[in-house]
Amino acid sequence: MEDLQGVLSQRGLTVSTLPDKGRCLFSIRDFSPGEVILNEEPFVSVASRASVDSRCEWCFSTSNLKRCSACQVVLYCGSTCQKSDWKLHRLECGVLSKVDKDRLKSLTPSIRLMVKLYLRRKLQNEKIIPTTATDNYNLVEALVSRILIYVSLWGSLRDISEIDEKQLVLYAQMANLVNLILELPGIGIKEIAENFSKLACNAHTICDSELRPLGTGLYPVISIINHSCLPNAVLVFKGRLAVVRAVQHIPKGTEVSISYIETAGSTMTRQKALKEQYFFSCSCPRCAKLGQCDDIQESAILEGYRCKGAECSGFLIRDSGDKGFICQHCGLVRGKDEIKKIASEAKTIVQRLTSKFDALRLEHAPRSENCHPDALATLASKVEVSRVPTKIEILKRSVPCSVAEIFPEEEIEDWRTSISNELKSASAAITLSNLKHFTIYQGVLYYRGSGGLLARCIGEEEAKVKIQEVHERSCGTGDASLYR
Ligand SMILES: [Zn+2]
Ligand SMILES: [Zn+2]
Ligand SMILES: [Zn+2]
Ligand SMILES: [Zn+2]
Repeated sequence: MEDLQGVLSQRGLTVSTLPDKGRCLFSIRDFSPGEVILNEEPFVSVASRASVDSRCEWCFSTSNLKRCSACQVVLYCGSTCQKSDWKLHRLECGVLSKVDKDRLKSLTPSIRLMVKLYLRRKLQNEKIIPTTATDNYNLVEALVSRILIYVSLWGSLRDISEIDEKQLVLYAQMANLVNLILELPGIGIKEIAENFSKLACNAHTICDSELRPLGTGLYPVISIINHSCLPNAVLVFKGRLAVVRAVQHIPKGTEVSISYIETAGSTMTRQKALKEQYFFSCSCPRCAKLGQCDDIQESAILEGYRCKGAECSGFLIRDSGDKGFICQHCGLVRGKDEIKKIASEAKTIVQRLTSKFDALRLEHAPRSENCHPDALATLASKVEVSRVPTKIEILKRSVPCSVAEIFPEEEIEDWRTSISNELKSASAAITLSNLKHFTIYQGVLYYRGSGGLLARCIGEEEAKVKIQEVHERSCGTGDASLYR
């Protein structure tokens, strides 16, 4: 822990323990918006299941993938990634090779993550993989699990809800499978189950820049950062690397916070999600406003429905008692089914509008999967880009063109022929003093007048026309030039 404090203090951070919150990450210097607060490689990571057949286990790339020939489970994009993962995969590979085919199918990413967690701990214990202040199993051990919260709250697991009981049974079953696969001495099912509970609260979905989920990773240092619905930092990913960036000015001595959930939800929705997924009640400045005028307004904008009564202009907002939605103005309660009907009516209107577009795709992203896009949007909207004007220089290259190209003319033999021929031939039948006034440009003869201006030489016929035009111009509106 002291080692960790040393490394963190170099970054301008420190870990403090608050009685009501547990571990918190604090700044010991100012951070400006957009600045990187913390970077962390995962302690362990796995490619996500939907893409397990198409992503590199190390860098999540999708190109040039080759299956590990021994276990036939894990893919790599090349030898660099395979080498980077080899120390850990060598053990995992041996373990996976022994699992029969039917059971391999039930190896979810969470189970593989757990297997890798124990194998990596073993490698660090045996000093095959080095241990550092920010990369060691003690940090994983320090993570808070749901089960631990239960025990600390009630001293036992007696009073847990039915949903949680089901979850615990599932953890126990998964732990049993991990125990069977690992065959490591000295690890009990109870300990593994507790670690599953830790992963549920602490593992992060790794996303790419286009917000596609790539895999899951455990970042024990970043897991110290607490949640706020009004966070001053966001978590984004750069490949496997997790990056925490400030989204506003963070003065020295402030707690660094990120949002574990999508922030664009009403206070009720956010509190429900935090309770269900992370088992705590949020008391951030936004949640503290619950029921106040501006909280109701904000919630209405984010997810409210108009109260349908013609005489009421209030908003229907989710009710804390889970009955449905309540009008904040007249107190009318509408059941969930009724709200579903209103929502489907709105969908029908939108669908009717689709005919007005050439191409349109409606996609519904569940709130639980919206955390990363939300973090990126927050970062994009909060970080100011410097207002230094950019100078853009447009370089033009003009291609010379001559009259001959625009108005190709047949060659007529007249006074120009001898000069033209003379210039082309280089013999000296015409006096040099006469010749010096002429030049040939792109096959056309020009007379170089005073100031170097080139006048195209024309024949008798054309001259008559030109003279006529010039004369008319001085009397009428024609446009003629002796130079073209
Ligand atoms: Zn790779
Ligand atoms: Zn393998
Ligand atoms: Zn909150
Ligand atoms: Zn109403």
